[in-house]
Amino acid sequence: MKPKWVITIDGPAGAGKTTVSRALAERLGYRYIDTGALYRGVALAARNANIAMDDDAALAALCARQELRFMRDDAGCRLYNGDEDIEDKIRTPEISMLASAISARAVVRRYLLEVQRRFGREKGAVFEGRDMGTVVFPDADVKFFLDAPLSVRARRRHLELADRCDQTLEGVLKDMQLRDHNDQTRELAPLKPAADAIVIPSERYTPEGVVERMLQEIETLDDRS
Ligand code: C5P
Repeated sequence: MKPKWVITIDGPAGAGKTTVSRALAERLGYRYIDTGALYRGVALAARNANIAMDDDAALAALCARQELRFMRDDAGCRLYNGDEDIEDKIRTPEISMLASAISARAVVRRYLLEVQRRFGREKGAVFEGRDMGTVVFPDADVKFFLDAPLSVRARRRHLELADRCDQTLEGVLKDMQLRDHNDQTRELAPLKPAADAIVIPSERYTPEGVVERMLQEIETLDDRS
């Protein structure tokens, strides 16, 4: 295999991207970059600074002050802003919705585009997000798009959140539907598979099965290159 590929995994919330991206990165000895965490980090900072999600001037100034970085730990990696570990704070339903709103703002996308491409300069990484294959890394070596029906994704997310908050399954599903709608219909970098992405319906596989399928696709592409 080419020593250092850039691999992108896009898809809607709850499609299983995080589990699969982490496992694939591990199997390949690559870095794993969760770009949704970056949008969540900016959303948390905006909320803490009482900045409205549509106040572009204040958002631009806020972005310029951010020091977002990932620190590896045994369970994967955690997001820091400066010296503060913000990993747990960004994983709440409130921040999910704020991240979805803030991700439609051009100033924020512009700022994070640079941050993400900087992470990509050093190859050998799996990038998880919504527009990795379409906008951030259009020349990625392999692009995947993971999808699953809304009901399946909501059930998964509800289980994941169970020990952290008491949101009902219906609440999770409604939030997810709204986030899907925002992400798919926004003008900038809407969620969609890249024309050259390999689309995988994740409900048909176990997470390990998805990773195996991805490794096979990578091997096939590698044989051809
Ligand atoms: O992946 P995650 O659910 O953590 O992402 C949170 C939000 O960040 C998404 O709903 C989406 O609006 C936004 N996002 C994005 N582009 C990315 C990653 C995430 O717009 N590449």
